[in-house]
Amino acid sequence: MKVAIIGSGLGGLLTAAILSEKGYKVDIFEKLRFYGGRFTNLEYKGFQISTGALHMIPHGKRGPLGILLRKVGSKVEIIDSEPEGEALYGNEKTNERITVRSSVFPLGSKLKFFKWLLKFKVLRANPYMDRYEKELDNFSAKFLKSFLGWSLSIQPAEIKYSKLLAIYRNVVKYGGPGIPIGGCKAVVDSLAEIIKSNDGEIHLRNPVLRLYSENKKVTGLENKNGKIEYDLYISNIGHQATGKLLGEEYAEEVESRGIKYSISLEKPFVGHTGVLFTLNCKRISGMNEVTNADPNLAPSGKHLLMAHQPMITSNVEEEIRIGLEDLKILLKGFEYEILAIQSYFDGWPVNRVRSGLDMGYRTPYSNLFVVGDAAKGDDIEVDGIALGIAELLKREFGEKIDIG
Ligand SMILES: Cc1cc2nc3c(=O)[nH]c(=O)nc-3n(C[C@H](O)[C@H](O)[C@H](O)COP(=O)(O)OP(=O)(O)OC[C@H]3O[C@@H](n4cnc5c(N)ncnc54)[C@H](O)[C@@H]3O)c2cc1C
Repeated sequence: MKVAIIGSGLGGLLTAAILSEKGYKVDIFEKLRFYGGRFTNLEYKGFQISTGALHMIPHGKRGPLGILLRKVGSKVEIIDSEPEGEALYGNEKTNERITVRSSVFPLGSKLKFFKWLLKFKVLRANPYMDRYEKELDNFSAKFLKSFLGWSLSIQPAEIKYSKLLAIYRNVVKYGGPGIPIGGCKAVVDSLAEIIKSNDGEIHLRNPVLRLYSENKKVTGLENKNGKIEYDLYISNIGHQATGKLLGEEYAEEVESRGIKYSISLEKPFVGHTGVLFTLNCKRISGMNEVTNADPNLAPSGKHLLMAHQPMITSNVEEEIRIGLEDLKILLKGFEYEILAIQSYFDGWPVNRVRSGLDMGYRTPYSNLFVVGDAAKGDDIEVDGIALGIAELLKREFGEKIDIG
């Protein structure tokens, strides 16, 4: 059976690797000159910065992506973070660091979370989190904001209680983040290798220009060489862009936007492999220092620090100005160089579909499915992508996948 995959992001490559292992003949079409989409490395001055992701996998090797990577035979090594997270709290002078674990949240706020759970279960109350945020103590409220800004590039007003609960349950189930040795590129390279070893092909600089359909079935795709027919079509570019290829806008997506700073340091600032949540900043939500897991992500003797902020207004320059001010305060006394400032929106966002608004893998077309961060399962980022793919494979391909 011949399968066309539109886009070679993590979602497209993971699906292609699994299907090619099952004996499907996969052809991947990618419009750019490289594969991996927002999950690969960009080399700059000897540093492995990235096209998107902060070189982190939300649940490390124990999560849905880790499980699927092992299932498909990927040899990528993932270092689970230790500690999983720390919160930078206190005032500018004290800048106290607190290891994030259940015991650091005041009992009152923990009880509130369970009160909301009761209201959710009994009364089906499911408001956006800004309504509940006001009920929390200062530390918990700031942590909530920082966690959402770092991991989803959103504000409490943009996520419902039920989604936060699902994220919390997944953290309890799978644990915190991890860093792949070699960064994002090591993950996508390992998938590309599997695809090629199964006679799959990745066609770079080869955008899909149009999809043809008849009676709600896709009958072919058009690329620079003309029309080609396949049995199945998997799109990795979101529902909205897929609709455009069909000439039918069947879905509208709300993306989340953000800004990432890649910073060179002479000595470590974070000092461990976890996330440092920055609770007192105006914009920066958190940082990681991936060279503590893999020193080869920077030239010898240097560290690569990555900071992230959600984009709260649409004024990119002003957002960056505020972010840089935060960094100046945070990194006072440290010698640092900003290597790159990358903004993510308009089709190259942090999240193609904001967490909680995913539309699933199905489309109005019987042989066309969507994978990637517009069709996540009930988890976040690349682990959400993996769950979405597991669901597709289980329901449409009869694949038995045990995600734990
Ligand atoms: C700043 C930032 C930080 C992040 N940090 C993390 C993190 O640390 N951990 C994490 O898990 N996630 C993180 N994410 C999210 C993660 O990067 C994305 O969710 C993930 O990479 C999306 O993968 P995808 O396969 O859905 O899509 P994409 O990576 O966008 O892939 C889609 C591909 O399709 C191609 N394409 C588009 N149109 C066409 C066409 N017509 N024909 C052919 N090809 C086409 C594109 O060029 C692209 O290569 C971050 C994202 C950003 C931006």
